[in-house]
Amino acid sequence: MFTEGDYDCIVIGAGVQGSFTAYQLAKNNKGTLLLEQFVLPHSRGSSHGQTRIIRKAYDQDYYTVMMGECYRLWSQLEQEASVKLYRQTGLLVMGPENGSQYQGIKNNLQRNRVPMVILQPEEFSKHIPNVNLSDGDAALVDKTAGVLYADRALRAVQGQFLKLGGTIKDGQKVTDIKPGDLVTVMTSGGIYRAKNLVVTAGSWTNNLLSYIGLQLPLQVLKINVYYWKEKVPGSYNVQHRFPCFLQAECPEGKHHIYGLPSNEYPGLVKVCYHSGSETNPDERDRQMDRSDLDIIKRYLIRCFPGLVPEPAVVESCLYTVTPDEHFVLDCHPIHNNIVIGAGFSGHGFKFGPLIGKLLCELSLGEVPSYDLSPFRIRRFQEHSKSSL
Ligand SMILES: Cc1cc2nc3c(=O)[nH]c(=O)nc-3n(C[C@H](O)[C@H](O)[C@H](O)COP(=O)(O)OP(=O)(O)OC[C@H]3O[C@@H](n4cnc5c(N)ncnc54)[C@H](O)[C@@H]3O)c2cc1C
Repeated sequence: MFTEGDYDCIVIGAGVQGSFTAYQLAKNNKGTLLLEQFVLPHSRGSSHGQTRIIRKAYDQDYYTVMMGECYRLWSQLEQEASVKLYRQTGLLVMGPENGSQYQGIKNNLQRNRVPMVILQPEEFSKHIPNVNLSDGDAALVDKTAGVLYADRALRAVQGQFLKLGGTIKDGQKVTDIKPGDLVTVMTSGGIYRAKNLVVTAGSWTNNLLSYIGLQLPLQVLKINVYYWKEKVPGSYNVQHRFPCFLQAECPEGKHHIYGLPSNEYPGLVKVCYHSGSETNPDERDRQMDRSDLDIIKRYLIRCFPGLVPEPAVVESCLYTVTPDEHFVLDCHPIHNNIVIGAGFSGHGFKFGPLIGKLLCELSLGEVPSYDLSPFRIRRFQEHSKSSL
């Protein structure tokens, strides 16, 4: 075991949030080490896979407002790395006309003047062929939305971080952390020290926080990622301008169903349920629950008659969910040179560039560019098992 040179900052976890944080720190001329337990790239966390949805369609103003800057930061990375990371498709939002989710999104988009189109039920099938709008449902399209190329984005941001002089050490699992003016981080491959530490460890966050006397109410869920075959090739294809979609409050299940047009796997449409069953991230695939499959199948038979209602491909991913499904972006309550980014609750990818900027600001002791009160640790106080 050896001790390496000191850094200004160490970031633990090279998923989307840690990679963007390291990149922002390096942009601010901070000597930064990004540590990752697995050899990169890997598919064991939450940031792998080819695609994610990017959208302004939220029912909270602050997410919609933050997304404005996210689009600019994604575009900046595209230019710096000379790579295409975003494809505009629009997001079709469907849900009971008077349901709280549909209404919340619609009102929020209108309030924030987000370009959108409300589709009247009688003209729905003209614009969106091959989808049946449920009786009583309304529909709108968030025109800003689209697909992010996730794996490619991780490669791009990590590549830019290295170009800025950052250091990545993968295949090094952090096994202990000693807080102090200089934080000491022990890994399977060495001992490192830095003035500041950022923990962005996804589903393993509480393992790391246990070394620094903190636990957060995070639930780790295994998400089954299903791809469904088009009966007629091309009918839900990105090139034919089929949008991403979000079905709120459908009778088949408690959580929403979302999908992306066929794109990464020709002829296959990704449709998933926004929930899963609890798992241990180190034994993810021992969780075999497929109760979501029946929910999606019944929904597709009813509303997407052009898809074969048996999945052609199934992949796996992890959500790390907070009780209110809002993120954690905060300093450790006692050791304020340790910053935590966690609990992205299945909707954090699109925010990656901004999360990186905000965690960097917290780490540099700057006033964050946005009000972070919805993301503070103290909101969990009654639930916290913190031993502090
Ligand atoms: C199926 C699915 C669909 C999704 N769809 C969308 C979407 O459409 N839009 C959207 O915005 N978001 C979406 N998300 C959510 C988004 O992908 C996540 O919020 C985001 O990837 C979380 O990133 P992260 O960096 O926090 O976690 P991770 O990517 O898991 O990164 C954490 C990293 O920390 C490392 N690590 C952990 N412990 C240690 C240790 N001891 N030592 C060293 N390294 C360690 C892990 O190995 C991992 O690489 C989706 C997620 C899933 C699973």
